Amino acid sequence: MSDAVSRRRFLTATAGAFALSPVLAACGGGDEGGVVAANCEGYGALTAAELQQRAALNYVDVTPIPGEMCSNCAFYEAPAGGAACGGCQLFAGPVAPGGYCTGWAAATA
Ligand code: SF4
Repeated sequence: MSDAVSRRRFLTATAGAFALSPVLAACGGGDEGGVVAANCEGYGALTAAELQQRAALNYVDVTPIPGEMCSNCAFYEAPAGGAACGGCQLFAGPVAPGGYCTGWAAATA
């Protein structure tokens, strides 16, 4: 995937997402008891701006769309060192393998 296509996909995914920023509250805002923090560690280290980035993409810990989840997304970074959660190329911080955001794109191969 070229940088231009990747950038376009990211911008498309984020374009309408700001209207849904209350998702930040649903993310728990770093609250370890929040929905997003269910099985992932490292939320406490995220800045407000980083939390806003993931909120802008409507990240949730459990996908609402069968068959579309972080673990089969082109932007997913698999967990290392036995961690429960991986990462995402679109924003900082942990993401759950079964999570989802509006930036989802099918992984190839
Ligand atoms: S679904 Fe969203 S959060 Fe998950 S890996 Fe893909 S782009 Fe990142």
